Amino acid sequence: MTAFKKNLEYMSSDGSFAVSLPATVLEKMHQECIKTLPNETGGILVGSYSEDMKFATISNMLGKSKNSILRRSSFTRKGHDYLQALNQLWSKNQYYLGEWHYHPLSSPSPSSRDSETMIKLSLDKGLNCPEPVLIIIGGGKNAWSISVSVFSNGKRIVLS
Ligand SMILES: [Zn+2]
Repeated sequence: MTAFKKNLEYMSSDGSFAVSLPATVLEKMHQECIKTLPNETGGILVGSYSEDMKFATISNMLGKSKNSILRRSSFTRKGHDYLQALNQLWSKNQYYLGEWHYHPLSSPSPSSRDSETMIKLSLDKGLNCPEPVLIIIGGGKNAWSISVSVFSNGKRIVLS
């Protein structure tokens, strides 16, 4: 049987923010998570925005970089790790959209540190991404879970 790979759509309750995530990209994240268990892992999301910036279409994700620090309850990536990759994507109209990481065998809810980090990134002029997306993968290969959030004006907006 041919697997039907669709796009997963997440939207804020008021309909003002939406994120589209290809099932193939989610599958790639799950593979990275399985590889790093019991540690966290993560990386960045790339894709494009609608003209009004309210609808993000994820086209791909980049996994951990060589400087990322993977621990059981934290994932730290170094600021400029992805600069070169992002510069190359820029020429294909693909941009930095936000971050993703894994909470091994636990809830995909963002920690307060996760939210603080995202708010900092939203203010980072160098990234030029005032409304970054955060995807957290929870659980494990027997039962994956996911949370999708957008950070706007210093606040977390939950998408479901
Ligand atoms: Zn986290």
